[in-house]
Amino acid sequence: MNLILFGPPAAGKGTQAKRLVETRNMVQLSTGDMLRAAIASGSELGKRVSGIMERGELVSDGIVIELIEQRLPEAEAAGGAIFDGFPRTLPQAEALDQMLAGRGRKIDLVLRLKVDDDALKSRIAGRFAESGRPDDNPESFAVRLNAYNQQTAPLLPYYEAQAKLVEVDGMGAVDSVAAAIDTALDA
Ligand code: AMP
Repeated sequence: MNLILFGPPAAGKGTQAKRLVETRNMVQLSTGDMLRAAIASGSELGKRVSGIMERGELVSDGIVIELIEQRLPEAEAAGGAIFDGFPRTLPQAEALDQMLAGRGRKIDLVLRLKVDDDALKSRIAGRFAESGRPDDNPESFAVRLNAYNQQTAPLLPYYEAQAKLVEVDGMGAVDSVAAAIDTALDA
């Protein structure tokens, strides 16, 4: 099973993906985590993307597509992939479909976590204090939310047209969102 966890920044995608890794033997493929690891390692890639990420803008499609491609074999060897924070643009979504098709696989389900903007902003205010993530500050978060609305939300019709989109209420507590996700996965 290959699953996309879809939603705006701070919707809870990472939290829910980590839970599914434990309960379903799947691999979490978070491009945000991969890019942060590249920055932490001091690599050339990390140097290229750190300013872009800090401002809350999207890094180029080519970079994230390549990062994902490198990790697909690992996900296949497990119970499948949970794509978290990828795809974020139409070219990324099309590239993902092509990469999977080339390996005889496909996206099975796109789970959209619905959380309203006010709830996202108050979540992020709390997270900034704890996470220390440089892009959780209010200015960068506004840019990230805007990138989601302008470049990522337009993917919803793409997946709806493929009849893969399922919406889950992401406003509740972590456990109740998890239960709603399980219901959708087992349906
Ligand atoms: P995330 O942890 O998913 O919120 O991602 C953190 C940041 O990494 C984003 O604000 C972007 O700068 C960058 N990033 C992560 N995934 C992608 C992607 N699929 N496309 C473009 N930029 C990405």
